[in-house]
Amino acid sequence: MPEVTFEGNTYVCSEEETVLECLHRHDVSIASSCLNGICQSCIMQSGDGHLPEKAQSGLKDSWRSLGYFLACQCRPTDSLQVARVDSAETKFRATLTRIEPLSSTVIGVWMRPELRFDYRPGQFVNFVREGNLIRSYSIASVPALQDELEFHVALMPEGKMSGWLHDNARAGDSLDLQGPLGSCFYVPGKSEQALLLVGTGTGLAPLYGIVRDALEAGHTGPIHLLHGALEVRGLYLVDVLRQLALEHDNFTYTPCALRTAEEQAIEYGDISELTFNHHPQLKGWRAYLCGHPDTIKPLQKKCFLAGVSMSDILVDVFLPAQ
Ligand SMILES: Cc1cc2nc3c(=O)[nH]c(=O)nc-3n(C[C@H](O)[C@H](O)[C@H](O)COP(=O)(O)OP(=O)(O)OC[C@H]3O[C@@H](n4cnc5c(N)ncnc54)[C@H](O)[C@@H]3O)c2cc1C
Repeated sequence: MPEVTFEGNTYVCSEEETVLECLHRHDVSIASSCLNGICQSCIMQSGDGHLPEKAQSGLKDSWRSLGYFLACQCRPTDSLQVARVDSAETKFRATLTRIEPLSSTVIGVWMRPELRFDYRPGQFVNFVREGNLIRSYSIASVPALQDELEFHVALMPEGKMSGWLHDNARAGDSLDLQGPLGSCFYVPGKSEQALLLVGTGTGLAPLYGIVRDALEAGHTGPIHLLHGALEVRGLYLVDVLRQLALEHDNFTYTPCALRTAEEQAIEYGDISELTFNHHPQLKGWRAYLCGHPDTIKPLQKKCFLAGVSMSDILVDVFLPAQ
């Protein structure tokens, strides 16, 4: 059985166990969140031994060459010496500048990073509190339009991060961030390509960044954003997006709610059905799908079946922390 040596102690890794599972089983505290290799919060460094390819998937080349790997994705075949990564390498500080309600359950959070921070709207960062509390949030801001980073955070019942942001955080508070991460963003170059953006809940956050980034870049192809919520009151930025649609002939915005209520200009029903009622054929389109896994994963498949090529389906699945 491979062994994992960490801070002077050696642990035997059971069959099929990841480095993270092995360390957690031995009560070693290692930060982690999504456990799916997406959030990169469990990044560690290996000094020797063979790292399985999956353990370094999605990491920057410079990090791979330093032996960085994702502990949640690493099922070792060799014994490994592992260490925490120097936090200065992966984290930077940001100061909260504004927190405002966007709806009864969603707040807008704005912050200013202390160092220059290059990102693409639609990527995400990890918010880090008290060392090991790590949650991912998508970037809704567009650097060409605003200096501050913007996030949309839904309040979860007893949510450790969202609850703190809703109830306790104040302008002037500081937070550690990790990132930017993810590849769900607008790629300039095919300005005539039709774009479909579908999101549920705060899945709107990355899409709001991506739509404005595309329009700012002079995208000329049609852009259709469908935003879904369970009820009308779960929708937010409705007026802002309607105004954006008035200003841009190629941009269409469709707010959708699952449960019926009498309100004009909201479509009612399942967002997936509504999407494909509008667009039964999507050959040549690029699709951006963001939000809860239960909605987004089936949509991804349906987009493919409707003709979108796999490389043109960009997905941000909001997996809850494990
Ligand atoms: C790539 C990525 C991007 C994300 N972007 C955003 C974003 O832009 N905005 C945003 O609001 N969130 C986003 N999330 C989700 C976010 O990271 C947190 O999971 C979420 O804010 C809950 O964290 P919490 O600490 O408040 O709640 P926790 O303390 O983790 O959970 C509290 C309770 O809520 C439950 N819960 C957690 N998440 C959900 C859920 N989605 N549905 C139902 N129950 C849930 C938990 O099971 C638990 O019982 C993203 C996630 C990922 C992976």
